[in-house]
Amino acid sequence: MAPLALVDCNNFFVSCERVFEPKLERIPVVVLSNNDGCVVARSNEAKMLGIPMGAPYFKWKALLEGNNGRALSANFQLYGDMSQRVVQVLREFCPELEVYSIDESFLNLAEVKEDIESCCDKMKETVKRWTGLPVSIGVAPTKTLSKLANQMAKDQRGVKLLMSEEEQTEALRELPIEGLWGIGRRMGVNCRSQGIKTALQLREAPLGKVRKAFGVIYERMVLELRGTPCMSIHEVDEDKQTITYSRTFGRPIETLEELSEALCSYAARACEKLREQNSCTGGFYIYFRTNKHRPDQAQYYAEKQILLEVPTDDTRVILKRVNNFLKEIFRAGYKFKKAGVTLYSLTPKGQQIEMEFEKPKQLHDKLPLSMIDKLSARYGDRGLFFAAQGVGNAWKGRNEIRSPGYTTRWSELKFVK
Ligand SMILES: [Mg+2]
Repeated sequence: MAPLALVDCNNFFVSCERVFEPKLERIPVVVLSNNDGCVVARSNEAKMLGIPMGAPYFKWKALLEGNNGRALSANFQLYGDMSQRVVQVLREFCPELEVYSIDESFLNLAEVKEDIESCCDKMKETVKRWTGLPVSIGVAPTKTLSKLANQMAKDQRGVKLLMSEEEQTEALRELPIEGLWGIGRRMGVNCRSQGIKTALQLREAPLGKVRKAFGVIYERMVLELRGTPCMSIHEVDEDKQTITYSRTFGRPIETLEELSEALCSYAARACEKLREQNSCTGGFYIYFRTNKHRPDQAQYYAEKQILLEVPTDDTRVILKRVNNFLKEIFRAGYKFKKAGVTLYSLTPKGQQIEMEFEKPKQLHDKLPLSMIDKLSARYGDRGLFFAAQGVGNAWKGRNEIRSPGYTTRWSELKFVK
């Protein structure tokens, strides 16, 4: 059976911050979401303090500060760049790789000639040496089992193999059903009502019974637990059907100009993602709203769906539409709090039907979009952007305590004195 590895960066956002700021080592550190609202990552020390994932920061601020902890605004540009570096290192070891999330990749180690365990040790050490980031590696015959092996690796020395049936049985025996990857709270309750309390009991349950009680997805999970792979390595993500970009503003927006800048910025980012996955969009919708938690203020919510005659990945086409339709639905006299753009009905590029009589006007391609994407990936969204996105962007999120763009901005390089 081909060994599948799941490589996962430990406390990823916090670890990225620690690479560039060693003072953050060994103290409780949390990373906060957009507008410094909620905790989105915690160091082990912060976990020990009992700070839950997703907790509103203001509730835990005093405890954190009382324990010499630090809170930081999320620096997604830094994390994205560090994530890419980790993937680059992993590809040197194994080209068949699926980037599963910003801090997790699945690798098919079938072609690895040497001993799997020593290969994983080497991978772990190389990632640490080249990027500064600690990773854990779990290896098993299926994705579901390698996820479990990875959890176990975190408590051990960072590498865990679950290749033999005996080891798998041992690991599943003590694992409460809710601890399995893919079992949510509701499914946990369902399983328990059927007498399935541990992962091992689920593995041993008759397939037909599982299918009947829970559906085909869970039947596949049982097969995965038995060592039969049902989820293959996807080198590209095929099932992204929509792309959404939405944000809460740092302060309320009242003018059409600023709202247009915000929506155009979000649309431009969504289009970058669209091109990154080589798709075109057949339509999109924009929305914006006031703060619904402020009943003392006038409320207004607006959304507009826009269908395109010809699917496109061209930011300029989208931005023009955004501005036209925004003018239609904008109302003055409100304090807007949040806006968003969703691209939907995505099709692979090259497959869009071009209607002869409605060919889009050829736009001047002095600066190809691919070049714009490259520049903005390197210098951030303020490197090169469309005029419609605006210059000042005073409405942007606060992110007051964000670390510098150590790896992506010359002006913010780390100095060593
Ligand atoms: Mg992680």
